[in-house]
Amino acid sequence: MDNLINSVLEVSQYVFDRKLVSGKAGNISGRIKYNGKDIIAITPTLISLNRLKYEDIVLVDIEGNFIGDGISNKKPSSELFMHLNIYKKRNDINGIVHTHSPYVTGFSFSDKKLKRMEGFGKIENEFLKEIPYKKPGSEELAIHVASAIGNEDVLILKKHGVIALGKTIEEAGDLAEFVEETSKIQFISNILNGF
Ligand SMILES: [Zn+2]
Repeated sequence: MDNLINSVLEVSQYVFDRKLVSGKAGNISGRIKYNGKDIIAITPTLISLNRLKYEDIVLVDIEGNFIGDGISNKKPSSELFMHLNIYKKRNDINGIVHTHSPYVTGFSFSDKKLKRMEGFGKIENEFLKEIPYKKPGSEELAIHVASAIGNEDVLILKKHGVIALGKTIEEAGDLAEFVEETSKIQFISNILNGF
């Protein structure tokens, strides 16, 4: 459990330092199996990922019920059910990073698609998958994400941001950074070459 919470804390700091999140935006979770049951550690709502302490991380089961020894009295991220729905669909995923990183989010507010670029996993589709805008934190968004996720490891939320998935929390953090960097490259090359 300690390792899980520490990984959430480390990746939270990492994505903040890399400027993938700012203010109180973004949320991160990780999952472990314990006695055959899922335990999910998730960042709390309304606290900057730059200022999280061990006791701020919220532990829940796969249905969102609080568990553990009451370490945290914080409220989980408003996107908790989006994270839980992904874990329910994907047994191979144990880390989720959601950000509003600037270049990806900029693209999400346009009609330009983001290409999958070399450097992180196999390229199976030319473009990153997108889902239409649904209110952040809503049940509708959680349902749409679950039905769209398939085998994707990145999902663009139109007019909102991006979700990156990994076998570990660290891998999800690296992928969130990679997607932001490749979006920046696409933005620059589009400017230079004309959209
Ligand atoms: Zn968001």
